[in-house]
Parts: sequence; structure tokens; C-alpha cells
Amino acid sequence: MQRLVKATIDLRALRRNFAHARRRAGRRQVWPVVKADAYGHGMLEVVRALADADGFCVADLDEGLALREAGVTQPVLVIQGAHSGAGLAAAVACGLTLGVHGPEQLALIEKDAPKLPAGSLRLWLKIETGMRRLGLEAEEALEAQDRLSALAAVAELGMMTHFACADTTDHPLTDAQITEFGMATLGAKGPTSVCNSAALLTGCYRRDTVVRPGIMLYGASPLLGRTADGLKLAPVMTLRSRVLAVKEVPAGHSVGYGAAWTASENTRIGIVAAGYGDGYPRHAPSGTPVRIGACDVHTLGRVSMDSLTVDLRLAAHVRVGDEVVLWGRGLPVDQVATAAGTIGYELLTGVSSRVPREYLGGEPG
Ligand SMILES: *Cc1c(COP(=O)(O)O)cnc(C)c1O
Repeated sequence: MQRLVKATIDLRALRRNFAHARRRAGRRQVWPVVKADAYGHGMLEVVRALADADGFCVADLDEGLALREAGVTQPVLVIQGAHSGAGLAAAVACGLTLGVHGPEQLALIEKDAPKLPAGSLRLWLKIETGMRRLGLEAEEALEAQDRLSALAAVAELGMMTHFACADTTDHPLTDAQITEFGMATLGAKGPTSVCNSAALLTGCYRRDTVVRPGIMLYGASPLLGRTADGLKLAPVMTLRSRVLAVKEVPAGHSVGYGAAWTASENTRIGIVAAGYGDGYPRHAPSGTPVRIGACDVHTLGRVSMDSLTVDLRLAAHVRVGDEVVLWGRGLPVDQVATAAGTIGYELLTGVSSRVPREYLGGEPG
């Protein structure tokens, strides 16, 4: 592979973050969230590195089927559930656990359940407690529990919900969601799952039996105003490239598309082989941090598809071929995300398929 830009995935850091999640979870099961290609880190590699996880969570059925094809034997929760009879049948055939978030899915399950083998269906009802995205109202959920638990096909009936504001400590909506979930799950006997990374780290809820951490495993912070390092999370992905060119821009001349940045003095700049075609955010403004060696520099002008420009006025030693860190070790992804007006989640999941992933520490231990 000759490409200059690459994403190095440190599986040892991933396992350290997972161990941290385990400690926070206490006796609860930990089901890592590996949707969206494990937040851009490579779903199968991540799952292999976390072979001792109690289960896994994915967003959709195709992701769940891919895990079974790869030989994953733990429970796999498909958060969005099934949307057709064929999907339901495939999930049952592969022993996937299905989220149920709306009346259409309930109707589909009740229609097909008589055709399914006894004890073949694992369902987790998603309860609407305040996110207003996906979920059954508490009333609907109580009723659904009664009807579904009477079906011979149903082997497991879990209950879950998802916080809207767990990234902010003591947000009143979190308390309201906890109360609502308590009412909807009164008398429920199956597994319950509430906590994402943020809730696991703040400890705002501890009564679920399964936790679903995602972003913390990848070493980015789920909490507003808290750094990953401060939360003892290690970056897993480091996005690196190299300097393609170094040049002087005379005062008064502009740089890049739209002539969006103009030199007020003679300025040494570097062109780095990474752009929005690799998943580097095009909306990152001039001033977004970039690291070259031990030096903090920043972008200037617009990000192009295959390159971006950095200010080298304070890094005169930089030469063509020098290694550049766009985020990861030495430059937290959250810091780049904040500068670009987004979140670490979006940057990590957005790394494009053009960028080769290189894995470190592949053997668990
Ligand atoms: C994505 C997702 C998670 C993981 O959230 P993080 O903030 O990455 O920990 C947990 N639960 C549900 C329902 C999700 O969609």
C-alpha cells in the first residue's frame, strides 16, 4: 500500500478502554456497540479483539448478519430490529436479538410468530422515555409485554431505552427518562439495558443488566467538557499522513479554493495528503489543529478532496515527507471535532473506505 494517508487502529488501547468499561459496569454485562463498522475502526477486527465481551450491539440487520457470518457466537442485539418477514426469518435463523421500536414491528412479529419455532425469538422492546426518536410508549410497551410473552416463539423479552442528554451531568431529562423507564418496566423479568458510554461513565443509572458502551471504547469522550485523557480513555484510531509539499506564500497572496485565506505576511505553508475524500471534515475552518512531529500547527484555507494546507510559520523544520497526525495519538479527535463544529463520533465514522486501516496489537492478551 503506497497511500500516504492511513488509519492506525491500536487494538491494545481498545482492550484497555473495554477493561475500563467493565470496571464501570460492575456485575452488569458489557455489550460493545460496533455499528457503523465499529465507528470506522473495522467491525470484524474490533469484535475479534473484544472476544470476551458478553454480547455486541449493532444498528441494523445486515451488520448483525455479518457478525454471525464471521463466527461471532455471543448474543447480538440489532437495535433497529427487523422490517420485513424475510428480515425476521433471517434474524431467527442466525439467533440475533431484535430491537422492537414501533407498532409496525410488533404487528410483523405477531403475524409471523406462529410460523417460527418455539423459543426462537429474542426481542428487546425499545421504550420511548424522552428521546422522541424510536421507541414504544410506556403504555404500549406494557401491553406488548403481555401479548409477546404469551407467544411460544418468544424466548426472551428485554427492555431498553436510550438517553438524550447523558453527556451532561445531572440533566433533568435524564432523571425524567429514568422515571419513565422504571414505570414501563415494572414487573419486567427479562434483561434491561439503559447505559451508553456517557451514562456508564457518570454512573447516573446502575440498575440495568446490560450496558451498551460505544464511543468510550474507541477512546473519545462522551461527556461535554471532559477530555478522553481525563476519563482515562486511550485513543484507538490515529489518522496519519505525510507532507506533500512545502512552500512560501508571499504576503497578499491567497491559498486554496475560493481564495479563502490570504497571507498577511510571507508565510511558509505545508500541503498534507489528507482531505475530505478521506473523511477529513471539509467544514474544518482555518485554525483547526494538526500535529507534525512534536509540533502543534493548524490548517489554513479550505480543505480539498485530497489535501489540506497547514501553517508552518512556527514549524520551520518541517520537510516534505514528514509524518502528520490529523487526530489520534498526540491530538485528541475531540479537539479536532470541536474546532470543526462536530463531534468525535462523526469524524471517526466518516473516515472513508479509501483510507487503509492498519492494526496494531492484534493478538488479545
Ligand atoms: C449508538 C448507540 C449506543 C452507543 O452510544 P455511545 O454514546 O457511543 O456510547 C448505545 N445505545 C444505542 C441505542 C445506540 O444507538
